[in-house]
Amino acid sequence: MTVSETGPLTTEAGAPVADNQNSETAGLGGPVLIQTQHLIEKLAHFNRERIPERIVHARGAGAYGTFTLTRDVSQWTRAAFLSEAGKQTEVFLRFSTVAGNLGSADAVRDPRGFALKFYTEEGNYDLVGNNTPVFFIKDALKFPDFIHTQKRDPYSGSQEADNVWDFWGLSPESTHQVTWLFGDRGIPASYRHMNGYGSHTYQWSNEAGEAFWVKYHFKTDQGIKNLTQAEANLLAGEDPDSHQRDLREAIERGEFPSWTVQVQIMPAADAATYRFNPFDLTKVWPHADYPPIEIGRLELNRNPENIFAEVEQSIFSPAHLVPGIGPSPDKMLQGRLFAYGDAHRYRVGINADHLPVNRPHATTVRTHSRDGALYDGRHGGAKNYEPNSFGGPFETGRPLWEPSEVSGTTQYSAAPTHAEDNDFVQAGTLYRLMPEDEKGRLIDNLAGFIAKVSRDDIAERAVNNFRQADPDFGKRLEAAVQALRG
Ligand code: NDP
Repeated sequence: MTVSETGPLTTEAGAPVADNQNSETAGLGGPVLIQTQHLIEKLAHFNRERIPERIVHARGAGAYGTFTLTRDVSQWTRAAFLSEAGKQTEVFLRFSTVAGNLGSADAVRDPRGFALKFYTEEGNYDLVGNNTPVFFIKDALKFPDFIHTQKRDPYSGSQEADNVWDFWGLSPESTHQVTWLFGDRGIPASYRHMNGYGSHTYQWSNEAGEAFWVKYHFKTDQGIKNLTQAEANLLAGEDPDSHQRDLREAIERGEFPSWTVQVQIMPAADAATYRFNPFDLTKVWPHADYPPIEIGRLELNRNPENIFAEVEQSIFSPAHLVPGIGPSPDKMLQGRLFAYGDAHRYRVGINADHLPVNRPHATTVRTHSRDGALYDGRHGGAKNYEPNSFGGPFETGRPLWEPSEVSGTTQYSAAPTHAEDNDFVQAGTLYRLMPEDEKGRLIDNLAGFIAKVSRDDIAERAVNNFRQADPDFGKRLEAAVQALRG
């Protein structure tokens, strides 16, 4: 809907406006009259044009598209949008950087958000992923601390190398993700030229009630393309909106970006004895253990018409699940199940789901929730309580996901480690699979940043994590840091 047809300019209440150039004054050259309602309204609305920006993932771009299922997956999930090959589902995908503010540059070294909303016939399914398969930490309890180190220091007002490396050095579980981030894929050339990952493990369950653990991969059909640090530094200055512009212009040209969608499936019974804790967000499931299975194609083919309405006000939550898809005990995921909804209730409001970009397309939303700011009156005079004797919504009796077994006493403890788990093993694997020239750039990128810290103990702790991932990695990094720090 656009409200910009030619016709008389009006006030917000719809009355015609006589003069949009001059405020009404008391006499020629006299003070402005407060009865110039049009002036009051314009200034008041202008003052309220911004809503709080997202604390993380503030800077982003989005597009609509289509997910096409290309193979039958009903043996693993009863989700209706995954029910038969050839089925198509509308989607909205928001890409983002993580640490930068709303107006920050796109071409920076940072993970990218890959937040996908499927408008399914059973309600919205949000897969709030990233362009990396892993993350820096394993427990949401550490998330605010981690993000504080990425954002502006309370005293200097800038991101500080000391804070970043102090936290990473003291959080060895970050070593895998940091190795990934400072490798070539840490600065994608555009949103089109990177993969997306669901990252967390989720539960799929089929009609018979059998449960599976699943990981999602979205492999770019445009090919992986990255920027070097030097290229990114230039581009961030010349065109801070580079990734947003690239996405919009490609879609305008009819070059619709697409991703091949794959899943890794683990039978529920494997989880307890798998060599890595399958719910640890700092680890992948090696492809050799659970080979990726191609299930679909994701295409982006329509730009939003209004960035504020559709991108800034879009909301995503990993708690938006549909029948046949459920959470896992991943401690980061458990925290996110709360944090995303909470962020949007604060940022956009309690009725954010009434906005077109957020509204489920094919289901009728039937709740007893009512009122609140900007409530659109959708329930009319229907009863707003249950049980009632007047009809209305009823419960289905079938949970979206299958039960998981738990045992033991309540406790504050790290997620259990499995036979081959430690904080460094997969960082080492990643280092060793990089070709020699990429290893060189990885070392340079890391050393350039670590060299900026003010204290030797912080630098040494940081280097030591990479040493434990791979002795050659540590040796070369130590030499490079020493060369820069003198
Ligand atoms: P495989 O050899 O089967 O797969 C290697 C994976 O590494 C591919 O997914 C590849 O992505 C990706 N990759 C290649 N170069 C880079 C890079 N510079 N930065 C990040 N990723 C890269 O090995 P495994 O499955 O045993 O995994 C080995 C390591 O690969 C892991 O420790 C992890 O760091 C990384 N990785 C693993 C993924 C997984 O789900 N198993 C997913 C992504 C990365 P592509 O196919 O797009 O080239």
